[in-house]
Amino acid sequence: MIDFSLTPELAELKDRTAAFVRDVVMAYEADPRQNPHGPTDELRSDLVARAAEAGLLSPHLPSEWGGLGLPHVGKAIVFEEAGYSPLGPVALAIAAPDEGNGHLLERVADADQKERYLRPLALGQVRSAFAMTEPDGGAGSDPSMLRTEARETSDGWAINGRKWLISGAEGAAYFMIMARTFDTAGADQGATIFLADAGSPGLEVGELLDTMDSNLVAGHSVVDFRDLYVRRHQVLGAVGQGFRNAQVRLAPARLTHCMRWLGAARRCHDEAVAYARERQAFGKPIGEHEGVGFQLADNLVDLHLCRLAIWQCAWVLDQGGDARVESSVAKLHCSEALGRVVDRSLQVLGGLGITSRTAVRRTYEDIRAFRIYDGPSEVHRWSIARSILKG
Ligand SMILES: Cc1cc2nc3c(=O)[nH]c(=O)nc-3n(C[C@H](O)[C@H](O)[C@H](O)COP(=O)(O)OP(=O)(O)OC[C@H]3O[C@@H](n4cnc5c(N)ncnc54)[C@H](O)[C@@H]3O)c2cc1C
Repeated sequence: MIDFSLTPELAELKDRTAAFVRDVVMAYEADPRQNPHGPTDELRSDLVARAAEAGLLSPHLPSEWGGLGLPHVGKAIVFEEAGYSPLGPVALAIAAPDEGNGHLLERVADADQKERYLRPLALGQVRSAFAMTEPDGGAGSDPSMLRTEARETSDGWAINGRKWLISGAEGAAYFMIMARTFDTAGADQGATIFLADAGSPGLEVGELLDTMDSNLVAGHSVVDFRDLYVRRHQVLGAVGQGFRNAQVRLAPARLTHCMRWLGAARRCHDEAVAYARERQAFGKPIGEHEGVGFQLADNLVDLHLCRLAIWQCAWVLDQGGDARVESSVAKLHCSEALGRVVDRSLQVLGGLGITSRTAVRRTYEDIRAFRIYDGPSEVHRWSIARSILKG
């Protein structure tokens, strides 16, 4: 039986996270160290220092790496509270792609790789990037179209290819690179994830894309590999196991997006409710007009059902289930329902909603991409349909 009652420790952590976001993080929302490509690294460092002081850094990672060791249901509680401010996930070092990358390193990396890459990430000292998607007909919704190649040499591989939409690439300390791997005889050995430090010869972060979202540090960039030379100790997991290892990251990372966006959508709803109580039109508060009241009711239903979908999937993951279908269901439902919550909240706020005086405008612009990354809605519907038909 699923038991969602909170332990006293988790209830205390939930309250502490909510208070930290409300009393500390939200004060930074007007900080000028933010631009169309997200918060600057300087702002991120300040926020991380505050979260470290509050004992809230890296709640998703085990305590041996400086985290709080939360299970998936625990993450659902804390990440929702962090997501209440666009800067909350940045402060706690649980924003994408670092959160998913940390999880993957913790599960797949060897001891040396963990020390070198996971420890500074968990302490919020560095950022990382995950380089999978390619422009011009390469890997996207269909990862098997991977074009970036790693060709074996006498003591490593030479990587060539182009990636794009790579979040946080500018200023990242290291990259996880998915490449199709060929041995010295030219035989295709499948996809492999390689770890490469920023600044390695042959690794070049190019155009910083002009995108509609601005919630992640350093936005999204094009990254080129021109004879980027990597050695054997830079393989994450095993050669040919890239897609299998990406699966380790996939379900939890999808779900943590849902958790953070749930908090963000709840904030928008709260701001809409406050306005609907105060703002008068046609002789009464606008919330008392059915057209507004019903939008708030639909918001509450969407928020509630998203939370249930997240907690159910988190529970399956905590039981050791692979949760591929559950995470697809949660991701599909949350990306669409939470987008509706934000859209309705903006409508309730009227003209105020399109200004930056509330969090709604920013969230509206940021949340749209959630229906595309980590699998577009159509791909999730397609894969859920396949699992239904398989029985
Ligand atoms: C904000 C943001 C951050 C990102 N960060 C990263 C990152 O850090 N690292 C990284 O590697 N990638 C990143 N991506 C890329 C992301 O993973 C891809 O955008 C996503 O996988 C979709 O691939 P695509 O853009 O090539 O779309 P395409 O593959 O070109 O698909 C276009 C559209 O076709 C439709 N479609 C595709 N397949 C099907 C199907 N089977 N049935 C029905 N319709 C279908 C969908 O509507 C889809 O939106 C990011 C993207 C965004 C928007």
